[in-house]
Amino acid sequence: MSRHILFFIGPPASGKGTQAELAAKYYSWPAISSGDLLRRLADLPKKYQAAIQAGHLVDDQTINDLLKRRLAQPDTKSGFILDGYPRNSSQFDYAYHHIITAEDKVRALEIKVSDEEVYRRLGGRRFCPHCGAGYHLIYKPSKREGICDYCSNKLEKRPDDKPQVITERLKLYHETMEPLKVLWQKRGELITINGEQDIAAVHQDVVASLAQWSGLSPQ
Ligand code: AMP
Repeated sequence: MSRHILFFIGPPASGKGTQAELAAKYYSWPAISSGDLLRRLADLPKKYQAAIQAGHLVDDQTINDLLKRRLAQPDTKSGFILDGYPRNSSQFDYAYHHIITAEDKVRALEIKVSDEEVYRRLGGRRFCPHCGAGYHLIYKPSKREGICDYCSNKLEKRPDDKPQVITERLKLYHETMEPLKVLWQKRGELITINGEQDIAAVHQDVVASLAQWSGLSPQ
């Protein structure tokens, strides 16, 4: 049976996870995040916890096996959406040899956001170390600058939102994903969406481009 398979790709803070969830609701397919699959492992081994915290990749076999098991569930029969997979060329090869069949209809949706916008989005995030409330200097400012609306504590930057860490995360993203984008492009399966719009507009563009591709509409 032919399935629709959508890969959502994009840099940190591109909103690809949100878009994958919206598309999943719209088409009634499961959105499967490889990061979530890992985090939900009841007995997540210590070495994986450390890799996740450090932003390093977990070994391919673990991820491939987890994914294969998840995809064996019946809710993936007509289609599914992947968020966070593949992350390198060996996972890409695995996907095309062990997951995707000749009948499947595949698209990779790149939610494109410039590096400058990633710095703006991540660099502007603040949180309250006391109550955990989240803010953004531009998109969700606190009422008093630098002060939590709920508990009047001083707001802080998350350690992984510091400029040098953002630079590292972006570098890793470009190094790993640019070669995969070329492969998808060669296969004629890459769709690029402008991610620098509001969430609803990005979703509209996703739906419109998929409708153009295979007349895809809600299931
Ligand atoms: P994410 O939720 O997609 O940001 O993933 C969180 C973390 O899980 C990553 O930083 C990696 O440590 C791990 N991870 C998620 N997906 C993969 C993958 N496809 N290959 C290897 N590691 C992954």
